[in-house]
Amino acid sequence: MTNLGPGTGLDADWAERSRQAVWHPCTQMKVHEHVPPRPIVSAQGPWLVDDQGHRILDAVSSWWVNLFGHNFAPLREAICDQFTKVDHIMLAGLTHAPVVELSERLGRLTGLGHAFYASDGASATEIALKMSAHSWRNRGRAGKHRFIGLEGGYHGETAGALSVTDIPLFRESYAPLLRLSATLPSPDARRAAPGVSPAQHLQHCIDALAAHLAEHAHETAALILEPLVQGAAGMAMHDPAYLAAVRRLCDQHEVHWIADEIAVGFGRTGTLFAHQQARGADGLPVKPDFICLSKGLTGGVLPLSAVLTTDAVYAAFYDDRTAHGFLHSHSYTGNPLACRAALAVLDAFDARDAEGLGVLERNRIAAERFTALTEPLSRHPRVKAHRHLGMIWAWDIDTHEPTFAARYHRAALAAGLLLRPIGATLYAMPPYVLTPDDQRVLAEGMLRVLDAVLAEVDALPQGGDRAAALAASNPMA
Ligand SMILES: *Cc1c(COP(=O)(O)O)cnc(C)c1O
Repeated sequence: MTNLGPGTGLDADWAERSRQAVWHPCTQMKVHEHVPPRPIVSAQGPWLVDDQGHRILDAVSSWWVNLFGHNFAPLREAICDQFTKVDHIMLAGLTHAPVVELSERLGRLTGLGHAFYASDGASATEIALKMSAHSWRNRGRAGKHRFIGLEGGYHGETAGALSVTDIPLFRESYAPLLRLSATLPSPDARRAAPGVSPAQHLQHCIDALAAHLAEHAHETAALILEPLVQGAAGMAMHDPAYLAAVRRLCDQHEVHWIADEIAVGFGRTGTLFAHQQARGADGLPVKPDFICLSKGLTGGVLPLSAVLTTDAVYAAFYDDRTAHGFLHSHSYTGNPLACRAALAVLDAFDARDAEGLGVLERNRIAAERFTALTEPLSRHPRVKAHRHLGMIWAWDIDTHEPTFAARYHRAALAAGLLLRPIGATLYAMPPYVLTPDDQRVLAEGMLRVLDAVLAEVDALPQGGDRAAALAASNPMA
């Protein structure tokens, strides 16, 4: 045993004690009989250190939340400073500077000037869905209470969020609890039928949305989607033109558009927000009716989410009648420490380095370098397709082995890399602070681990319907 549990007198077998007492997320706990959870004792920049002293490069940004590495000084200082001023107070009937400033700044950045807060992404989804339907009801159109999602869409795992999430493995056990949304074709070009070009597939998806709205707009409150990159679907990417069509059709049919930027916000796709890459007929960036933010909002260090919305939605609740208000709350709504962290994140995006470059420009340079470093991986004979946008890279591996993702995750960890393929899609979504050396370690390591894992799975006896088993495997595993 390396050390003792703090003040407990217990030994420090954190993995075993975790297995006994902690119910880990998105995990079949029985798996931990063979593969115990890895205790992490320190996190600095993009590097984690486990209890045996092994360094692990956090190439998935601790599940897509971390932007500037761990223990980022401006975040630490902002949170510590705020703690000495106001740590937490309720936000009903009281207010504080960090939440006001954050709301103002998010409003200026998005054009959506009304911010509602919660603590995690799924709650932001719930809020956007409830707010949309309630706003229609307040306007005398109570029949508009249904939702539209996209194939492969992921919006969180509380009951309302699951009902607009198209990941059958996550949803099936709870089917009787959910009122499913309509699921429309995803503009992910890989979903094109054989012989159909990406442009034709895009048009097919736009036509399908137009047809659905023509028939169902009277009962539909909102369409929710992940702009540009559907993360849990395996970093599925689509053309910004789809978002422009969504805006146009939703306007035409009086249906809200909810942009779930929980994973893609804060520079992940190369712009501060992903939807800003889509332009309307007027040449201006399109504007959703709701934007959901979380994950990178605090740089990945404190739980916070926000739903931003329009004057029109806000006005639908502004009334003398209490029941017309949005009577929704969470204990930690607008937590001052988390809001200060978010302000420090926005400051980091505003800052310029000695060369006059901001985060987005530096990321562009870093992304070019990493794309070049991963050329050998992209050209690997077992890579069927690869794609890149901003600070997200993905490679579809030619394998039907359902244990590929779990095996890759384990082998990568042994090689000092935190990577969690989604099914047969290997991806990297690193913090924005990898040095050229870190990038090289990651690029070379990913390739080496791929060869090792393919050799391992190719040697397995074939049998059963492995393709079907892969399709049903845990995308978050
Ligand atoms: C992670 C995620 C969520 C859910 O956020 P949680 O904080 O995990 O509840 C919702 N939507 C998208 C696109 C996400 O990536």
